[in-house]
Amino acid sequence: MAGDAIVAEELTYRYDELVAVDHISFKVAEGEILGFLGPNGAGKSTTVKVLTGQLQPREGKVTVLGIDITRDPEKVQAQIGVCFEITNLYEKMSAEENLKLFARLFGVSDFDAGALLERVGLAGRERDRVEEYSKGMKQRLMVARALVNRPSILFLDEPTDGLDPASAENIRKVILEERERGATVFLTTHDMMEADKLSDRVGFINQGKIVALDTPHNLKQQYGKRALRAQIAGPDGGLESREIIMDQPETVEAVQELFGQEQVVTIHSEEASLEDIFIDITGRGLTE
Ligand code: ADP
Ligand code: MG
Repeated sequence: MAGDAIVAEELTYRYDELVAVDHISFKVAEGEILGFLGPNGAGKSTTVKVLTGQLQPREGKVTVLGIDITRDPEKVQAQIGVCFEITNLYEKMSAEENLKLFARLFGVSDFDAGALLERVGLAGRERDRVEEYSKGMKQRLMVARALVNRPSILFLDEPTDGLDPASAENIRKVILEERERGATVFLTTHDMMEADKLSDRVGFINQGKIVALDTPHNLKQQYGKRALRAQIAGPDGGLESREIIMDQPETVEAVQELFGQEQVVTIHSEEASLEDIFIDITGRGLTE
């Protein structure tokens, strides 16, 4: 059985009086993708900064790859890759030079910048200066840079936020390839589709607290309502919509009534989205 790559116990971080991360506890198994889903200001970036040793926890404990992050941050940092929200690349240098510099810093000897740039869709542009890159290209280069040391854990803070669809899709592909390689991924996002698609488990974070953490499937089973949505012919020739909640004592009768008494034009089943469930639990949406 795989061990735990990350263990957070009662982790708390405050900016002066403001509690940004409030006694959160969770584990991420080796080889797992954990999606950390929450709206702006929920505490996602602060959590990533504490997990990666950029900020010191005010309370609680973080163990990454078996090492207490406050005891030996350098040892942890050598084995992880991080991609923060704000791009901090050398703009006057090319993509290739940025990566080679990082490889030297990490002491990676057999480094193939071309192969890595190919993976993030930057082949052909590797010698152009980063200042000439679009936002999506810079972000893909940030992801490539996080992979230079072949990290055991990849921390990605909203890596696809505000990107063009092709860049976002490229980054999602690379995330899945990394898990294939055996890496653990800690991914923050406020995109529920992304969290649903990529994550083995999803943690919902709201106001610094984890309010749910499970597989997307289990979250939907536990909190979501499945429904049948039908369109029926209305009296004046228009269409009317009907919804029947599934798995209820009255479901069968409602379906029989629908087909017996109405002219059903279309019918399909619907599953609650992670956003619906997030709203159910927290009373707020992911993008407000
Ligand atoms: P998220 O990444 O989910 O948007 P953050 O971790 O950035 O959330 O922020 C959590 C809370 O901490 C927010 O209320 C935010 O305003 C506050 N915060 C973040 N960074 C700082 C900072 N450097 N100084 C003071 N407050 C901060
Ligand atoms: Mg953030």
